[in-house]
Amino acid sequence: MRLSRYFLPVLKENPAEAQIVSHRYMLRAGMIKQQAAGIYSWLPLGYRVLKRIEQIVHEEQVRAGHIPLLMPTLQPADLWRESGRYDDYGQEMLRIKDRHERDMLYGPTNEEMITDIFRSHVGSYKDLPMTLYHIQWKFRDEVRPRFGVMRGREFLMKDGYNFDVDRESALHAYNRHMVSYLRTYERMGLTAIPMRAASGPIGGDNTHEFLVLASTGESEVFYDDRVTALKLGARDIDYDNWDQVAKVCEEFTTLYARTDETHDEAVFNGVPEEHRKVGRGIEVGQIFYFGTKYSEAMGATVVTKDGSKVPVEMGSHGIGVSRLLGAIIEASHDDKGIIWPEGVTPFHVGIVNLKQGDAEADAACEALYKSVAALGLEALYDDRDERAGGKFATMDLIGLPWRITVGPRGLKNGVVELTSRRTGESVELPPEQAIERIAQIYAGI
Ligand code: ATP
Ligand code: MG
Repeated sequence: MRLSRYFLPVLKENPAEAQIVSHRYMLRAGMIKQQAAGIYSWLPLGYRVLKRIEQIVHEEQVRAGHIPLLMPTLQPADLWRESGRYDDYGQEMLRIKDRHERDMLYGPTNEEMITDIFRSHVGSYKDLPMTLYHIQWKFRDEVRPRFGVMRGREFLMKDGYNFDVDRESALHAYNRHMVSYLRTYERMGLTAIPMRAASGPIGGDNTHEFLVLASTGESEVFYDDRVTALKLGARDIDYDNWDQVAKVCEEFTTLYARTDETHDEAVFNGVPEEHRKVGRGIEVGQIFYFGTKYSEAMGATVVTKDGSKVPVEMGSHGIGVSRLLGAIIEASHDDKGIIWPEGVTPFHVGIVNLKQGDAEADAACEALYKSVAALGLEALYDDRDERAGGKFATMDLIGLPWRITVGPRGLKNGVVELTSRRTGESVELPPEQAIERIAQIYAGI
């Protein structure tokens, strides 16, 4: 993309309404525009990152054997009357009447609808296990929408629902989700710690929240800091191997890590003092096993091997897709702007032409731009007639992890400069070698 032809409305001034750094940078980098409290348009740069995050979520769900579909944002109230949640949900639910005076709602979550789909089409243990998920906009009329996309009213969520014939198999589905989530967050450059949570209105007894440590997080967290060093890495996971998956879960949930809702001071005091940490975290996902709560209420049954009819065992599992942009920025920025991890960056590399209009510099930039595309990667080429300082400030603000700087002086010596946004370190290289380095960096991502 050539910046001269892009739409990147960066702001010089800090917007007064933004209280935390991710919100500030998302507004300043021209990623989002607020349209009403907690409701945002995703401008081109923000939309790119949102799509990258969505893509990672999809890939890891499919890898775990889960099946994507898409349910609507608007739902009939009658489904929610069946589960009893239409009255329970309260003011967070946006209720709407259509022209025929039928009660509708903008879905805050989809347990009822997915259960309805299941009961209409599935009736035998032979069709199980099955996990269906979608990535769809949700609406919750939050009392205090704030911090930009972190606590929106309209927000994008991945929500998945497992259907299993018995409790053991449903608990494996729970574990499978936990592992797939660990991998998902790691690919985004995040450390998200599974913490035992309280179950709340969805109900159920097994539930973990995934928290990214950040001083601006809304949850208070208590943890053994050795938990932050755990990494899934590149290990091969067979998602059908119950034992292997359960062992990974055990590895990640044995050290103390809880939110204030489930915190137990006595147990916490058993953690060696030098590892005992209290901090704050951003909830970027949650998994629940709730058994037959919805299937019983809504008549979603399966016939088992021995011929008996039982309510299907279920769980629901969510990832805050749009909130993740804020969480990643909270975890990865400096005083100049965002620092995108390679896995989610809107463009893989920025190209800065120090002297636009100089025939040699222009040609070198064009060549680099084409070479990046030939790698199957995307460059943002700042081809505007602007001062170098302004171009650098924009690149730093929007946070592309790698920048190639091209100027007449370097070109005389046959080199361009490759700079890491994270470390600030630069190396001078012939253009072909800079491209090779970019190829290597993104090869494993
Ligand atoms: P919170 O406690 O932050 O209100 P929740 O526990 O009500 O969230 P879940 O029902 O677990 O939310 O939804 C799954 C995920 O969706 C959450 O882990 C979070 O990342 C995201 N999410 C929930 N509410 C919002 C919101 N208002 N804005 C953006 N993301 C949200
Ligand atoms: Mg939650």
